[in-house]
Amino acid sequence: MKVPYRDFDKLVSYFRKVPGIGERGALRIALFLTTTDPKRGRSIAKALLNVIDNVQRCSECNNLSFSERCWICEDPQRDRSVVMVVETVFDLLVMEDAGYKGLYHVVAEVLPSSKRIGDRVKTKALDSLIKRLNGGIKEVILAFPYTVRGEALTRFFRENLPSGVLVTRLARGIPVGGEMEFLDPVTLGLALQRRERV
Ligand SMILES: [Zn+2]
Repeated sequence: MKVPYRDFDKLVSYFRKVPGIGERGALRIALFLTTTDPKRGRSIAKALLNVIDNVQRCSECNNLSFSERCWICEDPQRDRSVVMVVETVFDLLVMEDAGYKGLYHVVAEVLPSSKRIGDRVKTKALDSLIKRLNGGIKEVILAFPYTVRGEALTRFFRENLPSGVLVTRLARGIPVGGEMEFLDPVTLGLALQRRERV
């Protein structure tokens, strides 16, 4: 299925690059936002630009934020003795849903769809985490999935974090090969409770 107009076709191809949207979905969205409900299309375009222009990374934990520190780092109710290392902001939001109340450290500036994390990103993430450990953090929870990439990340942090801080990881309630973003909050909550020392 193809519309033989270059501008329209370009729009469809942009939607196709969005994670989770296939060929038909991209076409459906493009038709809806431009012809069925152009008013909504304009609102979405405006909102998208507004967020893109104003969103930034939290200077402390790398979470998305609209000010220097994110809503979690600013929250006085959070347990500041424990920091959970997650790969993406999406994973952070999943853990929030599971009821976690400590701090976070988001390690990758890559999108959830990205399969690889280079050494440069890993080292940068490790350095910024180690800097935070001086601030009274007693436990680091590694919340990576049981995938090849997740295992590699777990090993990297376990081997490079200074001794003296308790390092744990989520328990194996998490299916092998399962990505964090597809897990339900109850499973994740249990995996968090039963986390094990690594
Ligand atoms: Zn933060």
